[in-house]
Amino acid sequence: MSRFSLAVHGGAGTINKASLTPDLEVRYHDGLRTALQAGHDILQQGGSAMDAVTAAVCALENEPLFNVGRGAVFTSEGVQEMDAAVMDGRTRAAGAVGGIFGPRNPVLNARAVMENTEHVMLIGPNALQIAREAGLPFEEAPYFFTQARWDALQSTLAMRASGQEDDDPARRHGTVGAVACDTQGNLAAATSTGGMTAKAPGRIGDTPIIGAGTFADNETCAVSGTGHGEVFIRYNAAAEIAARMRHAGESLVDAAHHVVMEDLGKHDGSGGLIAVDAQGHVTMPFNCEGMYRGMVNENGNFETSIHAGPETR
Ligand code: ASP
Repeated sequence: MSRFSLAVHGGAGTINKASLTPDLEVRYHDGLRTALQAGHDILQQGGSAMDAVTAAVCALENEPLFNVGRGAVFTSEGVQEMDAAVMDGRTRAAGAVGGIFGPRNPVLNARAVMENTEHVMLIGPNALQIAREAGLPFEEAPYFFTQARWDALQSTLAMRASGQEDDDPARRHGTVGAVACDTQGNLAAATSTGGMTAKAPGRIGDTPIIGAGTFADNETCAVSGTGHGEVFIRYNAAAEIAARMRHAGESLVDAAHHVVMEDLGKHDGSGGLIAVDAQGHVTMPFNCEGMYRGMVNENGNFETSIHAGPETR
């Protein structure tokens, strides 16, 4: 059988072992596993990396546990604004949306921008118009609402009011993403997020910025990031991995490690990323306590992990 690889993430941060009940832990693993299965089934049948990453991210967007789509975090004004992007490593075609609310699957809105317009990024109502024209399903506010995210907003706002910054990344943010190498050796990446709890209205993070939170090029790698978005943008995190591979001849693993540990890790850029190269190598480094993540390849071994160390399932 031809080789393929798929990796997914569901956000990174201080994933407190104490607050992660056994039941919740199982649900996270199940959510990641469902996403991997969706992408795996496409790749196994010879489908494209782009279709696989889109399907995997849709599964994560539909799962309220993750900060994306259903279950997205709230801005300081109590609304949800979502960002998403896709990139196709064959052609470097890309599509992105910022600050949207309504489409059930923001990643499909990003893909519609890539496929149906001559632009890379659209925001707000104009992005939504592309989703409508593509016939994508929309949902109302109650579908996207979760009490846990609402409560997180209230506690972040209360801390802010008392002059304290909320430094718990687990509560503050989260993102989902997928990268794949298909049986043809084509790469793709997709990332989707609700952003950061209590972010300013209109704030756009790294997720839809091509080269920052999302990147794919068959010559080097496909990358999807999660973490402190402003730092990912300033360090051009995803594209920097590709640049290190192309210009310095570094391996995927070395390039990704450098960006996560040095560029991001030493500059307040808490987070991590998943990346794959055209040989199907996968790496999933993070510089914080944990990252919801998983991978599968043509051997059909599904692995999902949350913290560092030997708790892979
Ligand atoms: N990177 C995302 C953002 O800044 C948040 C996250 O991944 O946790 O919007």
